[in-house]
Amino acid sequence: MRYIEPHGHMVSRTTDDYTAMAMAGCACVCEPAFWAGFDRSSVDGFYDYFCQLTEHEPARAAKFGLPHYTWLCINPKEAEDVKLAEEVIDIIPKFLDKPNVLGIGEIGLNKNSRNELRVFEKHVDLAAKHDQLILIHTPHLEDKLKGTRLIVDALKNDKRIKPERVIIDHVEEHTIKLVLDSGFWAGMTLYPESKCTSARAIDMIDIYGDERLWMNSACDWGVSVPLAVPRTALEMKKRGHSADFIDKMIYQNPLKFLSQTPRFKLP
Ligand SMILES: [Zn+2]
Repeated sequence: MRYIEPHGHMVSRTTDDYTAMAMAGCACVCEPAFWAGFDRSSVDGFYDYFCQLTEHEPARAAKFGLPHYTWLCINPKEAEDVKLAEEVIDIIPKFLDKPNVLGIGEIGLNKNSRNELRVFEKHVDLAAKHDQLILIHTPHLEDKLKGTRLIVDALKNDKRIKPERVIIDHVEEHTIKLVLDSGFWAGMTLYPESKCTSARAIDMIDIYGDERLWMNSACDWGVSVPLAVPRTALEMKKRGHSADFIDKMIYQNPLKFLSQTPRFKLP
């Protein structure tokens, strides 16, 4: 089995996780910038985090034979402080030429507030000006549908944005169709409890098809499973999906989306 982990917060994971992923057939891991579990107090905290994502974590991943890529932003959870968010957005261009940077993400909405939307639009503007791919986080539970609609509308209003260069992540049964019908890619996040289980993800693949769709573990500092993607591949096999079909879902699809940036090159 070979697979790409397109969304994993590896700075939170152990070396055992890296070993297990490499042994399971992981070809590379892509790490979006994320909330640390606490609010950073200054732009300097983000500067250090971006150094970690673009220099130190790739070096750690390389010890396990795994290429490491990253996405940069200030997470929506920290977007209420618009002044801080603007300061962080201002330093991102310094990092965009680092060899492992895929684009801007994971941006989006958390509570669907006015400030979050303002900061989201600033990130989209940054991505458009620098011709970057975009990875989007959608809110949890009851805020998800409204937040996804707000995000899709904001992106459609910006004529510079090409939907095929945007992936909207954490889709569920009530948001996947809106995302795919609007021309975007959709990501399904495999969590043991919230978001989406393996069974639900495979149901969605069976209903909505295998185009512009990927799966990720989003493994972070909370309850999450770094091997969620290969585990789901085993579930797909049990359900009778062919090896070629599984390979498309867990390897070829993420490869196709990510190859839109010239910086993504698998060895
Ligand atoms: Zn994430």
